Amino acid sequence: MTGTATAVDEVVDYDEALRRYDPVLGLEVHVELNTATKMFCGCATAFGADPNTQVCPVCLGLPGALPVVNERAVESAIRIGLALNCQIAQWCRFARKNYFYPDMPKNFQTSQYDEPIAFEGHLDVELEDGEVFRVLIERAHMEEDTGKSLHIGGATGRIHGADHSLVDYNRAGIPLIEIVTKPVTGVGERAPEVARAYVAALRELLRALQVSDVRMEQGSLRCDANVSLRARAVDGQAQDDVPLGTRTETKNVNSLRSVERAVRFEISRQAAVLDAGRPVVQETRHWHEDTGVTTSGRVKSDAEDYRYFPEPDLVPVAPSRETVAQLRATLPEPPGLRRKRLQGDWGYSDLEMRDVVNAGAVELIEETVDAGATPAAARKWWTGELARRANAEGRSVEDFGVTPSHIAELDGLVRSGRLNDSMARQVLDGVMGGEGTPTEVADARGLTLVQDEGALEAAVDKVIAANPDVAEKVRGGKVQAAGALIGQVMKEMRGQADAGKARQLILDRLGAA
Ligand code: ADP
Ligand code: MG
Ligand code: ZN
Repeated sequence: MTGTATAVDEVVDYDEALRRYDPVLGLEVHVELNTATKMFCGCATAFGADPNTQVCPVCLGLPGALPVVNERAVESAIRIGLALNCQIAQWCRFARKNYFYPDMPKNFQTSQYDEPIAFEGHLDVELEDGEVFRVLIERAHMEEDTGKSLHIGGATGRIHGADHSLVDYNRAGIPLIEIVTKPVTGVGERAPEVARAYVAALRELLRALQVSDVRMEQGSLRCDANVSLRARAVDGQAQDDVPLGTRTETKNVNSLRSVERAVRFEISRQAAVLDAGRPVVQETRHWHEDTGVTTSGRVKSDAEDYRYFPEPDLVPVAPSRETVAQLRATLPEPPGLRRKRLQGDWGYSDLEMRDVVNAGAVELIEETVDAGATPAAARKWWTGELARRANAEGRSVEDFGVTPSHIAELDGLVRSGRLNDSMARQVLDGVMGGEGTPTEVADARGLTLVQDEGALEAAVDKVIAANPDVAEKVRGGKVQAAGALIGQVMKEMRGQADAGKARQLILDRLGAA
């Protein structure tokens, strides 16, 4: 027996839990900035380099090394703060957060404590049904990332059961912004959805600011989800005036779907703990994607344990009001407004637009339309065909090597009548396989609709003659029956015919047009 590590937590059915308890959320999002160099030294930040090749005395914490603040990172921090409707500090300092962990060579993390660069803001979050919920932001502060530990020899890749561990310090010192919400109350059973929608909205905003590549799967955007429960009054009403319950903090949840699932699980688990008359333990928890549960991590330290103190090696950050005003002028159109504007321009329904946003395809579609595609075709390709393939292969559409101009060109080939839909999909296969542009692929594969009217007419006549019963139905006014004939004509033409033309011709021949 290894005690709690293997214990399976009891859970209460989610709806049941919601009848007795009211959830409160707190979301902490860490975002890695996309600056070329680290927060306090000139080391490169590119993802995926060989271990320990992007390090220097400063980020390795060697004696005597002195940090210098990355001005670009401070600018990004201020822009993020402004985009989140925060106040920007006139003067603030970094602080040392002292604790030992092997992936943190200085034995402290340079962070900010009671003097964050940005504070008191909000982000409006649109939920699935279009309702807008305002999440209050407590602060956004600057800090540095830690290195990465790699645990070798165990079954799970976790430290438990591993033979030994390796540490890669490439990530140590990469600029991070931590964005912390105030406790989110009053969302009831929608808590998991709000958590997800908040992270999605934040990701969209950060992407629009171009301050990070916000890839959750690579860890450049990470979410810690705090959850607590408050008992409801006997009549089932939420009680806003009673103190908050004890929270747990589920660490490093790395997809939107996981944020939603982890919050949902924690609500069910904490409800079972409280139902049994036990206290919720204030602790960090780990999310397990495969089993859909959280397990106990470490008992959470209080801030006092970190012995925060102002960082003596760095000068305070005191952005002038002119600088802040200049940075404010660089803010992009807020994503929510931009979405509304584009939806109007493109003529999409609310549902269509939501699909596009959920697929992260707004920019792709915008560029595709700019390159000459119709909005309908751009949407169809990116959120239909390409998103479907990406999902099936567990990849991201950006990784296919297909560009907006490829899609615009493909759409052009369809609209000019050279390709039908199924041929266009074959051309797309070729583009994804690196065979060239759509026109090159269509040429190389000999894909062109047969423009020869005579051949099409011959095929139509042949099919009508071979299916007198069906033809009779169409003659009698059953126009839907023509579908079967069109299918056969397409077969005769080995798929290389324009289905619309074939249909017209069949109806003409049968006097049903
Ligand atoms: P820590 O240093 O423990 O990570 P932070 O202040 O950085 O603490 O973040 C805690 C997060 O949890 C914040 O978003 C805060 O609003 C939220 N929070 C605080 N108390 C509760 C509570 N009782 N229930 C749910 N969320 C809470
Ligand atoms: Mg925190
Ligand atoms: Zn360095």
